[in-house]
Amino acid sequence: MRSGYRRAVSMPSRAEVLVVGAGLAGLSAATRLADAGLDVHVLEAGGHAGGRLATERIDGFLVDRGFQVFNTGYPRAADLDLPDLRLGWFERGAVLRVDGRAHRVVDPRRRPSAVPATATAPLGSLREKAALVAFSLRAGYTPVGRLLGAPEQSAEQALRAAGIGEAALELFLRPFLAGVLLEEELATSSRYVDLLWRSFVRGSTGLPAEGMQAIGEQLAARLPAGRVHLHTPARAVSPGTVRTDGGTWSADAVVVATDPATATGLLPAVEAAAPRQVTTHLHVLPGSPWSTPLIVLGRPGSPVVNSAVVSDAQPRYSPDGRALVASSTLVPTREEELRAEIAALHGVAPSDLEHLTSVTVQGAQPAALPPLQLRRPVALGDGLYVCGDHRDTPSIQGAMASGARAARAVLRALRPAGSADVQGAMASGARAARAVLRALRPAGSADVQGADVQGADVQGAG
Ligand SMILES: Cc1cc2nc3c(=O)[nH]c(=O)nc-3n(C[C@H](O)[C@H](O)[C@H](O)COP(=O)(O)OP(=O)(O)OC[C@H]3O[C@@H](n4cnc5c(N)ncnc54)[C@H](O)[C@@H]3O)c2cc1C
Repeated sequence: MRSGYRRAVSMPSRAEVLVVGAGLAGLSAATRLADAGLDVHVLEAGGHAGGRLATERIDGFLVDRGFQVFNTGYPRAADLDLPDLRLGWFERGAVLRVDGRAHRVVDPRRRPSAVPATATAPLGSLREKAALVAFSLRAGYTPVGRLLGAPEQSAEQALRAAGIGEAALELFLRPFLAGVLLEEELATSSRYVDLLWRSFVRGSTGLPAEGMQAIGEQLAARLPAGRVHLHTPARAVSPGTVRTDGGTWSADAVVVATDPATATGLLPAVEAAAPRQVTTHLHVLPGSPWSTPLIVLGRPGSPVVNSAVVSDAQPRYSPDGRALVASSTLVPTREEELRAEIAALHGVAPSDLEHLTSVTVQGAQPAALPPLQLRRPVALGDGLYVCGDHRDTPSIQGAMASGARAARAVLRALRPAGSADVQGAMASGARAARAVLRALRPAGSADVQGADVQGADVQGAG
């Protein structure tokens, strides 16, 4: 247990701010408020910090609760100590398997040697491939304000309107986006897909050396000792009070940072979008069949949307050099019915795959259908606040951004006069984070500047 944690024993019953939920939203709010000098306590129902980012060790392998990745293109990546996470990277792109042949579609900016293979991948005519490039450039480099000002439609309508052809849509974009949006109709808001694609164009995706849970653990460790109370579910919330099994707390401000379903139960004024689900099957192979860490996309008509050798990106996920494979479907599936398909995607024999475990996450993330409500209110009045991915976008970025917004709203209410001190503390924290990013990515300054610009744009647009 790292510092910041405490079990549900002899708790104080009063805090300046109570945060309910130690996911990334709650921890982002709590760390900002603590940095600004407020007395903050976090009540967490579960047994770890990080919420939906959860990792366990099974037979020596690091297994995240569902296949998930961290994207450095998220503006809020600047809030994290990325070197401390020791990220291992996926290459930007994906593998498509068509008629048994594997085709690599790789971002040529990072790997110029992959241009010939990418150019000849079966993604339609030259004009259609150019449309795919144009779509990426527009999402990556148009100011966020203009992206958000574009007419909103479903993602599929927007992709077709952009001239993306059938092959690129069905073989590449649909399975790629389905694995991120957790829906394959591409009914998601085109505005959210623009922001998401922007993060992929500008950033890199990776896995922490200790698993995705390490992201939440890092934030929790920034809080003073004893401020995260695990195994402490909030049973009821009202202005100034939170009831738990161990007694009732009082506070000047209460921030509800739970998953969307619990938030609507605790705060009837809050509405949340429908939840998306995902099932992930984990297998072990004697060795990786690939030479580069790339996500393999599911084939049209297959329930598998993607399959990745996660230990290629992050070797620490495997205890002994064997390959750990994560394969996801959007409907609950049984491992044995997918084994042949997963083997075919990786070009191995089904008998090579040793089943490790499977997990279905019901409320993996909320839907982001049109009309996209990018910044739902976080201040509800009477000292009640709400944050979580359901307030911004269904992502690590959305959770952290909503936590930052909630912290700013609490500070405005509780420290209106001390704003100079408070804002100074917050600005210095952000500056330190940017310095860390620059140190980590001196050559990738476009990423860093891109992240800063996007963050400024998004916040400015709010
Ligand atoms: C399988 C999967 C894959 C994903 N892949 C990605 C990805 O690749 N990239 C990406 O950006 N995002 C991804 N996401 C989404 C991302 O993980 C979430 O959007 C984000 O973590 C949500 O954070 P949160 O703080 O809003 O909520 P949560 O993480 O849900 O945190 C809420 C916390 O509140 C606690 N809680 C609930 N009820 C109570 C109560 N009554 N009292 C006290 N505490 C309570 C919960 O235990 C939890 O710790 C994925 C999610 C899943 C599940």
